[in-house]
Amino acid sequence: MIDKKIRIDPIKNGTSIDHLNPGTALEVMKVLGLHDTGIVTIGMHLESKKFGYKDIIKIENKELTQDEINKITLISPHASISIIKNFNVEKKFEVMLPKVIEGSVKCKNPKCITNIESVETKFHIITKSPLKIQCHHCERHMKKEDISLL
Ligand SMILES: [Zn+2]
Repeated sequence: MIDKKIRIDPIKNGTSIDHLNPGTALEVMKVLGLHDTGIVTIGMHLESKKFGYKDIIKIENKELTQDEINKITLISPHASISIIKNFNVEKKFEVMLPKVIEGSVKCKNPKCITNIESVETKFHIITKSPLKIQCHHCERHMKKEDISLL
């Protein structure tokens, strides 16, 4: 039998995003716009004791902004994030949806003011599982599959 275990090298400084839903690593990469940063390591469909399978992304020399963390949370609500300093985990936390998301999600309603004028989008989280959010401006409800990230 071939040993399919993959070892992902530790990084010296940067951010490790663990417990991503399997198959979401590329989507996360896309919203983070990581194509022009430093070294990025991706592990997809790795075995996870907690969830069966998971994806992992490690990004050297990058710290995530709150906006980026919110986007990851919308894609993969069980992700955990580790800040690595000098090969040590300096801080580790699980992502959590805030009550309000500002500026990360596009409103689905074409008549919404955020799609007509340069008004920042703002959504209230109605339920977390299944995910339902409501536009602050036009009150349109959106489900997870309606969400497109800005
Ligand atoms: Zn709206």
